[in-house]
Amino acid sequence: MIELKSYLQNTWISGKGKAATLVNPSTEEAVATVSTEGLDFKGALAYARETGGKNLRKMNFKERGEMVKAMSQAIHAHRDELIKLAIMNGGNTRSDAKFDIDGASGTLAAYAELAATLGDKSHLVDEAGIQLGRSARLFGVHIWVPREGVAVHVNAFNFPAWGLAEKAAVALLAGVPVVTKPATSTGVVAHRIVEILVEGKMLPEGALSFVAGSAGDLLDHVGGQDMLAFTGAGSTGAMLRGGKSAREHSIRVNVEADSLNAAVLGPDADEDGELTNLFIGDVVRDMTQKTGQKCTAIRRIYVPKEKVEAVIEKLKERLSDVKVGDPSHESVTMGPVATKQQLDDVRAGIGKLAACSKIVHGGVDPIEPLGGTKGKGFFVAPTLLHCAAPSPSDAVHNHEVFGPVATIMPYDGSAKDAARLVASGGGGLVSSIYADDKSFVKEAVLAIAPFHGRVTIGSTKIVGQSVPPGTVLPQLVHGGPGRAGSGEELGGKRGLAFYMQRTAIQGDRALIESFL
Ligand code: NAP
Repeated sequence: MIELKSYLQNTWISGKGKAATLVNPSTEEAVATVSTEGLDFKGALAYARETGGKNLRKMNFKERGEMVKAMSQAIHAHRDELIKLAIMNGGNTRSDAKFDIDGASGTLAAYAELAATLGDKSHLVDEAGIQLGRSARLFGVHIWVPREGVAVHVNAFNFPAWGLAEKAAVALLAGVPVVTKPATSTGVVAHRIVEILVEGKMLPEGALSFVAGSAGDLLDHVGGQDMLAFTGAGSTGAMLRGGKSAREHSIRVNVEADSLNAAVLGPDADEDGELTNLFIGDVVRDMTQKTGQKCTAIRRIYVPKEKVEAVIEKLKERLSDVKVGDPSHESVTMGPVATKQQLDDVRAGIGKLAACSKIVHGGVDPIEPLGGTKGKGFFVAPTLLHCAAPSPSDAVHNHEVFGPVATIMPYDGSAKDAARLVASGGGGLVSSIYADDKSFVKEAVLAIAPFHGRVTIGSTKIVGQSVPPGTVLPQLVHGGPGRAGSGEELGGKRGLAFYMQRTAIQGDRALIESFL
């Protein structure tokens, strides 16, 4: 059994008191213990700010980019070992684990590439300056400088590798030290990644700290230069945003929360054409990849009413091929959900959705896992529901079931009706439109864009090269309004803004330009 330690003030340290036990979600066997009781989080944050912040601000973008690149390479070099841990503690299939781990090294590599374009300074200039008076001499410009606080990163259980890396890449490149905390239940992968980075000595002292286990009083010690980036349930995000220290010091908070992502099949898609195939493939991938525990997974499927029955048949056929079981067996294509709590929540959630829908595939009954032990493990069948007369007040538009579950619904074939239904999800991370008809695509995209951080368009010409909506790209922003938390991460250079202070500088142009 592994004992997960925290890495604080340059030291690996365990908490005292009762430890939490982490399990293998396929077998329910204990795999690790963890405790943060009694750890000095106040001291840890001060150390990160003072030692890590100073060290990072001595480096320019080029040097920080090299550091981020070395982190990417180190994670990649340990890929096989990390995949095994993700199978054991996350219930991931090999392919799910690669999605998380390669996503981590890929995002770090993308930020290393970005750094190479930012030069050898440690501040950024925001757009061209402007003349402020009658003569050209009086001048104003905005610059970005690293904030002198610490970035506290609190992550969800579903992406222990990517969650750590996508946030750390941006903060570290901006010149801000990181204290990162994975969800307790699946913390083994994140713990090993931090061990690898510490062993490799690729970060300056104090730049990266790690909390294994519960956050304790960590957030009681944040100050006015600090930032909190949180990913998880909307209710937890709201609580952390409203925390006493966060409010009193007006700290920056970014929340990535729940999302009822939608996929819309356009009226012009032929039933057996490439576009419908792309749509079906993306829906099934999103329902089953990481057992549907993906914040970007498609939860709502809108299809022109005359095509609903045919699409249900196609989805049922594809879902019947899914092999649910212990992912340490090669033939398994979908593992368990991560925890007993998740299993209970998914079953209860299917019950809620069924109040306005009919289960057409799967359901809440226990299943016998392939390669597993009967009665053990947190397994649930991929489940498709059909809601024949959707209304914005239905649970399907208000309740996220964080598992392999989606609901298919009709719309009248117009972009207006599709957008009305999609928007009733209350704000999401990503929704997708599958159509070639330019006027349908334009009307639908512009109508749903205010409610989303990202809109994906699937069309015939990009079949074979499109990136599925569930994949978050470092070049594009990740986040969404309303239910999704109103946060924004990544987006290339845009992501740096959260960790830097934009300051207006006004005065003599020649003097200002001497240091820009
Ligand atoms: P969660 O229960 O909200 O936990 C998220 C994180 O918050 C965990 O690290 C948890 O730590 C921590 N936490 C909980 N209470 C805390 C407190 N009082 N102080 C400090 N930290 C605290 O969410 P989850 O079950 O892990 O994740 C599932 C949810 O995340 C889903 O709703 C999903 O939609 C959302 N999600 C969103 C995104 C996105 O990018 N928008 C990505 C992934 C998931 P412990 O584990 O130690 O309790």
